[in-house]
Amino acid sequence: MPDLRFDHLYRHEELTEALNGLAAEYPHLMTLESIGTSYEGRDIWLATMTNAATGSHHEKPALFVEANIHATEVTGSTAALHLLHHLVTGHGEDENVSRVLDTRCFYVVPRLNPDGVELALADRPRYLRSSARPWPRAEPQDGLVEEDVDGDGRILTMRVPDANGPWKACPEDPRLLVARDPDEVGPGPYWRLLPEGRIRNYDGVLVPLAPRLEGLDLNRQFPAGWRTEGDQAGAGPYPGSEPEIRALLQAVAARPNLCAYIAYHTFGGVHLRPYSDHDDDHLPTSDLRTFLEIAKLATAITGYRAVSVYHDFRYEPKEIITGASDDWAYDHLGVYAWTTEFWSPIPKAGIAEHKFIEWFDDHPVADDLALLRWSDETVGRNVGYVDWYPFEHPQLGPVELGGWHFFRVWSNPPPALMEAEIAPHADFAVRHLLLSPRLELHNACAELVGALGDSGLATWRVRVVVDNTGWMATNVTERALERKAVRPVEAEITLPDGCHLAAGTPRLELGQLGGRALKRSALLASDPTDDRTKAEWVVRGPAGAVVAVEVRHQRGGVVRVDVELDAITES
Ligand SMILES: [Zn+2]
Repeated sequence: MPDLRFDHLYRHEELTEALNGLAAEYPHLMTLESIGTSYEGRDIWLATMTNAATGSHHEKPALFVEANIHATEVTGSTAALHLLHHLVTGHGEDENVSRVLDTRCFYVVPRLNPDGVELALADRPRYLRSSARPWPRAEPQDGLVEEDVDGDGRILTMRVPDANGPWKACPEDPRLLVARDPDEVGPGPYWRLLPEGRIRNYDGVLVPLAPRLEGLDLNRQFPAGWRTEGDQAGAGPYPGSEPEIRALLQAVAARPNLCAYIAYHTFGGVHLRPYSDHDDDHLPTSDLRTFLEIAKLATAITGYRAVSVYHDFRYEPKEIITGASDDWAYDHLGVYAWTTEFWSPIPKAGIAEHKFIEWFDDHPVADDLALLRWSDETVGRNVGYVDWYPFEHPQLGPVELGGWHFFRVWSNPPPALMEAEIAPHADFAVRHLLLSPRLELHNACAELVGALGDSGLATWRVRVVVDNTGWMATNVTERALERKAVRPVEAEITLPDGCHLAAGTPRLELGQLGGRALKRSALLASDPTDDRTKAEWVVRGPAGAVVAVEVRHQRGGVVRVDVELDAITES
């Protein structure tokens, strides 16, 4: 067993080694394949997790985990690796893990954007959201480009003394910068804040921020609601234009057994759900109710709130985002889909209930002071928030570097806090998958309905009854039915030589089976057997012959049963 650490951000080679090590150690529970390569040619790994002894993965209900699509959100990969480890070590030990791997299947892509991560974890890092491909222009543009100018392995903030600067030292803690009063003219000093970096084609006067050379946002690339670059920055030339996303789309589309989808991101400490571009009225009522029930489970297990992106997680109050994977997975595939934003230092600093995005734009100075205190005590003085230190900038002259080490404290949890942060999410993934539909045999029998003739053949009614024992209906969502993304339950009989059907066809379509997801109050409840179905055939054959019946559903799995033509048999 490889030595896995969950307080660590993995480089691509280390991650590859860890994944191969796990797959080699637990071949009966895990297989690893490459679903494609990144822009720079790195493998994109997909782990399939199920107990092979109880059936093949594609005949079991499944949950898909996609991690680390955004380059600096590397914690997502560590969390995905933690989930894999939780599964292989929990099988045979933990009741839920055993059940989930025996009856269901996980597909996990631990790192969708390996090129971007290699830049983020380089000795002289670059913090991108995107992959490494230039977009929308192939050539760099003028202006300030983020860079580790002093070569200390961090990209911090530059503060430049400027009589017209908007910031001044906070009286309670001079490391902290606060806004100058609206009518304040006093002697200063005042500061202008810029990302640590160098200015391409500096004219000695103006410091515009250069648009990023690598301006893609891979999580704006998905087909549902996709909009062009003019409306949605980072969307790329067309949905799935990037090799990472194309590989993922193909891998997901090739797995019609999916019932749920979770994307691992940072940060926010929140579970996000569709839609990003529509209010909740846009969801069929039963889907919204089910989302809200799963949300309760998520919050109970992880402590994170669960909210709609449209209602509670907008980057700009009047703008929407489009082309995200959770919207695609729900809207086109009709599976319950989430984006988990791991980690936030804000609640750790004791700051109660806050708005997720608006807080960054406006909050009391007391919050900043609380965060600074928390960082000094937990992450280390001068580690999480770096004391300003002088630096002779090659273009701007004397400046100071310092402030939040954002990658270390905000984009990802500090190493010592990482495992505790991600661990509950493996439980949530297991519990979520256990909610999926599952076909199970209720009973099967053959009943003699016509006596043996001279031919030695009798007439039998063969009946196979199956239940959906899962919490979700077999279609999973209403949206899946609207999109024609899911087929009905199908039953098929296979007859041995010497038998034939007296009437009808060997293959039957039996519709969808209900689940228990909408059963919340027993008041006024009634429970017709819409979770059960029967398949019947009239067979001519000799006593003792055995017919084979298979009942299958893309999302609910497969039931196989042999029925002997005997006076009355039941199993
Ligand atoms: Zn993200």
